[in-house]
Amino acid sequence: MREVLLEVRDLAKSYGKRRAVDGVSFHVRRGQTVGLLGPNGAGKSTTVGIIAGILDADAGEVLLDGQPAGTRHHDTRRRIGLVPQDLALYDDLPAVENLKLFGALYGLKNAALAARCAAVLELVGLADRARDRPATFSGGMKRRLNIAAALLHEPALLILDEPTVGVDPQSRNAIFDTLAALQRAGTALVYTSHYMEEVERLADHIVIIDHGRVLADESPAALYARLPARAALHVDLAEALSGELAGELARLPGVAGLLGEGPAWDVRLQDSTQAIAVLDWLRDRGQVPVHFATARARLEEVFLDLTGRSLRD
Ligand code: ADP
Repeated sequence: MREVLLEVRDLAKSYGKRRAVDGVSFHVRRGQTVGLLGPNGAGKSTTVGIIAGILDADAGEVLLDGQPAGTRHHDTRRRIGLVPQDLALYDDLPAVENLKLFGALYGLKNAALAARCAAVLELVGLADRARDRPATFSGGMKRRLNIAAALLHEPALLILDEPTVGVDPQSRNAIFDTLAALQRAGTALVYTSHYMEEVERLADHIVIIDHGRVLADESPAALYARLPARAALHVDLAEALSGELAGELARLPGVAGLLGEGPAWDVRLQDSTQAIAVLDWLRDRGQVPVHFATARARLEEVFLDLTGRSLRD
């Protein structure tokens, strides 16, 4: 097990009477990618703002390599890069000049600054656009430039707040490629999202947060194992299924639920291999499927299970 890099303990923060973060704890190991998942308003931005040292917590602590982080701890703060949701770029200044401004804030100068600018532009796939102005960039390219800015000082931990919001699909893939390259280079990542599939794509650990509280803190595989039904079989039969047979089908071993009517049914299964037994069972009763398809249950259903509502409610 890799060492703990970031430790977040019992963070709390209110805005007036609204408790945005209500006792959030989790940790990030060296080189690990943690997806912070929750619906809008769950408290993700507030949590990462506190970790990155741009917001003060009312209670709790953040430790990086055992050292306190936060607004007053500049040395630790410097080791954390934040890509905020709102872009901070000068639209009329060439991309590389934007980076030089950011680099100067981190105390980088001359050849070292130029080398870092070139390296981060390469990493985010914008090396050939270095002299172009962000005004001419797509939303996704601007976001990639913002990611580059947060990487100039080679942070041990990079935090990205909803990095794909408002981004076209092509740039979204480019952002994921950049994150994968950072993973290979050993940078620890925390990224927030309200899309389970985005978090599933790269995260080796998922922290689900809602109403400022942590509801789950597990690997994707462990979350997946929590699902009561991990697969679904959709069947269209030649004829309607009788109520009696539907009742029997619902009680078959391995069947976790049944939805449908007439000839069209969705059978929720504990395991996809049970689809074969269900199809055999139907055939033995003279029920001919004219079409069938299986699908893996989506991890998003874990959220539904935990909160009783969908992520995008
Ligand atoms: P998320 O990033 O998950 O969407 P936020 O951390 O932005 O969640 O917000 C958590 C809660 O705190 C929400 O109810 C939001 O309306 C409220 N909130 C966030 N920022 C402020 C602020 N600056 N002033 C007042 N309320 C805020």
